[in-house]
Amino acid sequence: MTLLEEIPSFTAESATEFKFEILHTSKKSRARVGKITTPHGVIDTPNFVGVGTNGTLKALDNSAVQEIGLQLMFCNTYHLMLQPGTEVVRKAGGLHRFIHRSLPIITDSGGFQVFSLAYGSVADELKSRGTKKQDGHVLKINEDGVLFRSYRDGSKVLLTPETSITAQKDLGADIIIPFDELPPYHIADLDLKKSLDRTHRWETRSLNAHLANPQNQAMYAVIHGGVHKELRKASCDYLTSLPFDGFAIGGSMGKTKSEMIDMLTFTMPLLPPDRPNHLLGIGDLESIEGCVPLGIDTFDSSYPTRAARHGVLLSKKGPLKIEKSQNATYFAPPEENCPCPTCCKFSLAYLHHLFKANEITGMTLATIHNLHFMVNLMSEYREKILNDEI
Ligand SMILES: [Zn+2]
Repeated sequence: MTLLEEIPSFTAESATEFKFEILHTSKKSRARVGKITTPHGVIDTPNFVGVGTNGTLKALDNSAVQEIGLQLMFCNTYHLMLQPGTEVVRKAGGLHRFIHRSLPIITDSGGFQVFSLAYGSVADELKSRGTKKQDGHVLKINEDGVLFRSYRDGSKVLLTPETSITAQKDLGADIIIPFDELPPYHIADLDLKKSLDRTHRWETRSLNAHLANPQNQAMYAVIHGGVHKELRKASCDYLTSLPFDGFAIGGSMGKTKSEMIDMLTFTMPLLPPDRPNHLLGIGDLESIEGCVPLGIDTFDSSYPTRAARHGVLLSKKGPLKIEKSQNATYFAPPEENCPCPTCCKFSLAYLHHLFKANEITGMTLATIHNLHFMVNLMSEYREKILNDEI
C-alpha cells in the first residue's frame, strides 16, 4: 500500500515550526497578505477554508480538493468523535493519512456543535425568541465541561477542555482550537459575562493540555464576548496574554452583517498584528468582501459547497441557478473563461441535465467549480492588497 505511505503522519518527525509572516500590509486598510507555514505546507492569506465536517468536502474526494488548490481544510472534532471515533483516526496514523490529505488541516474543539445543536442558530433563536430547543441533547453543563447524548447511538459523551484536546491530538490537525462555551444569542448580560469567564478558564485548561504534548500543532484561541464590546475587549486582553499561536473570532456578533462588521472593526485592532487570525464559520462572498479590509486572514464556510449541492454556481455575475429552464440548451461552459475542470469540459446544459436527473455527478461538478471560484477569488484579493487597492 505505497499510496498511503505518501501522506506524512502527525508524529514529530514531520516537524516544521508553525510560522506566520506578513508579506504586505495595505496602505489603504488593515488588509494584509501573509503566509502561514505549517508541518503540512503553506497557507497564503487571506484565504478561504473549505469545510470537510466528516473528513471530506461533500461530493469530492481529497485528491480532487488538493488539485483545486484549497490550502486549508476545516474538520469538525464533534462529528469525528462520534463517527468513526478519534481513536480510530489515531490508529490510522492521524487525519492527514486517514483521509489522504497532505496539505494543512484545522480542527475545532467540538464545543460549537454541542452548543449550537442545543440552542439552534442565531436565526433559529430569533424565530423561537430564545427558548431553548427541548431535544435533550445536552444533559449537563458545569465547570468541568458538557455532557451530551450522541445523536448517533444515544450514548453519553463528556466533552471537557482536556477530552477535546485529547481528541484533537488523536486527529493531529496542523491547527487546533481550545474548548469554549458558545452562549445563546439571547443571554442576559450577567450570564454572558459568566460564560466568558468560564470560556477563558476552559481555553486556559485547553492550552495547558495542549502544551503538555504540543505534537507539532498550533493552537488558536477563540475570542468571545458576544455583542458586547467591553467583553470582546476583555476577551482579547486576557487571551492575547497567553501563548496562543493565533486567534479565532467566535460567538455571536449580532443579527446582521453590518453589526458583525462593526464588531470586527472594533475587535481586530485589539489582536496582535504578528499572529494569524481566523473568522469562525463565516465565508460568504459579502462577508469576505467586508472583512478582508479589516485584516481577517482566513475564513471557513460550508457556503460554496452547500450552494453547489443545491444547484447554485458562484460566478462573477452573481449566483447562477443550474436548474433554470433556460439552461437546458445552454451548450457553453457555465462560466465564461473559468479555467476550472468543470467549465473546461462540460456545458451548463449538461449540468442542468444532471441536476434534473438527480445524478450525484452534477453536485460533484458544481462543487469543483465553486471551490475553484473561491481559490481564485482569494488569490485576486491577495493581488489587490499587494497593489494597495483594498
Ligand atoms: Zn468553472
